[in-house]
Amino acid sequence: MPRAEPESKVSMDTLIMKFGGSTVGTTSALTQVLSIILEEHERWKRLLVVVSALEGVTDALIEAARLAQLGNRRGYRRIAATLRTRHMALAENLPLGATERAVLQADIDRLLFDMLDTCQALADRRLNEDYEHPEHYEAIVGVGERLSARIVAALLRQNDLRGVAIDATDLIVTDNVYGNATVNIPLTRERILAHLQPMLDRQITPVITGFIGSTVGGHPTTLGRGGSDYTASVLAACTNAKEVWVWTDVDGMMTTDPREVAEARKIPSLSYDEVAELAYFGARVLHPRMVGPLRERDIPLRVRNVFKPREQGTLINREGERDRVAVKAVTSIAGLGLSARRRGPLAGITRLVDDILFRTTGSHTEVMISSQTSGESFVCFVIPTTAGPDALHTLRQALEDELPETPEAGVWTARPVTVVTAIGNRLDQLNGLTARLFASLNDIRILAVAQGPSNCTLSFVTEPGDAEKLLLQIHNFILNSD
Ligand code: ADP
Ligand code: ASP
Ligand code: MG
Repeated sequence: MPRAEPESKVSMDTLIMKFGGSTVGTTSALTQVLSIILEEHERWKRLLVVVSALEGVTDALIEAARLAQLGNRRGYRRIAATLRTRHMALAENLPLGATERAVLQADIDRLLFDMLDTCQALADRRLNEDYEHPEHYEAIVGVGERLSARIVAALLRQNDLRGVAIDATDLIVTDNVYGNATVNIPLTRERILAHLQPMLDRQITPVITGFIGSTVGGHPTTLGRGGSDYTASVLAACTNAKEVWVWTDVDGMMTTDPREVAEARKIPSLSYDEVAELAYFGARVLHPRMVGPLRERDIPLRVRNVFKPREQGTLINREGERDRVAVKAVTSIAGLGLSARRRGPLAGITRLVDDILFRTTGSHTEVMISSQTSGESFVCFVIPTTAGPDALHTLRQALEDELPETPEAGVWTARPVTVVTAIGNRLDQLNGLTARLFASLNDIRILAVAQGPSNCTLSFVTEPGDAEKLLLQIHNFILNSD
């Protein structure tokens, strides 16, 4: 049972359901979403719905914000027009009454008009010639969730549910790490009790924007790519929810990315640690920081396929820790390897890389592994997926510029690597499992190996060209061990 939290007066019978971008983008997917919400509304005392932007919309908004920063007016206007067409077409095709449709279309127009206005402000740099307006950028990037929340809320109202779209900027309080903010849970809980709880008491089903929040001072922020999962977990922590269900387009947590490997299988259950590591080491399916708030309060998480609502998906809870010792999943992530033809302290180079990454993307690096021989040093970094797909490229470029100018760092050379990570419970136990895993790997040059402190990861650093082969070999090992 979840631990009771005295400061929360919310009932235990609360379910949080988060719907990802692939589940809100088409009429047919939205029909599924609606029938799931209607069914669960009957079964739970309180239901909170969290939505992502339509698939691809956040990428388009990031591009629009970037073009605005460059002063490319034609570019961001073109994107806004495409987004308008897409959202309007969806509103047009949904089974809505005339009034509901008109209100929704007016909302879409207003939000995109505001977004254009913000792009304009960014392009004009009219607030400050020295220009640093991360909050403008964040306001643009977060519009996708505000649009989709209105679409889902309209659909609920049309079906006699009291659906209300809520902008999480008024609820989720974050730090000021723009682009990858972390939530302040105590302050967020206060706001939820003040603003959301009265709605829940009136049997309203809030449809809350994922991914976005704001600083204590009210500046908009975003929670890192894939951040709607994190929103759902924070809301669960603050409302003392009984469960969180993440609805997506795959059957649950799988042995590897099913888009890359068709043989991938669903994993019925996992521990919090396994899921956090899987997400951290590249599996885009969940935001890595969503696990902490759930683990602390023992709130179970389910990952389910919106197109197969009768199936249970993957259950993540504390029980997962007692599962058999096994390698259950494999994932890969691009990283950066730095080598030097010398031996010595690594703190300087580690700090430099971390500083550069934080400055350019708001994320901290993770030193995956560092090793030294008599005359050589090697350090490997991975970058959280929440930093976005361009982070590695940005870091590599910044490093190329800065390494030659930093005397103590000048001896280092950087090269791309891939980190392939096997995930499973208690991989530290000497039961022959890891030996068998190693024995199953053939013809691959491994640059370094590391066991993670959570004891559920075994990571192999390899050349990018060898990564796919390595991942498939580990995946075959998993399938053959069942
Ligand atoms: P959503 O929009 O629902 O948040 P995401 O695209 O963020 O969806 O995450 C779901 C995707 O994660 C899947 O389509 C799948 O390709 C990818 N993925 C990567 N690794 C895994 C894994 N181990 N298990 C399941 N899905 C994975
Ligand atoms: N829409 C955001 C993104 O694409 C957040 C999310 O999907 O969870 O990263
Ligand atoms: Mg996601």
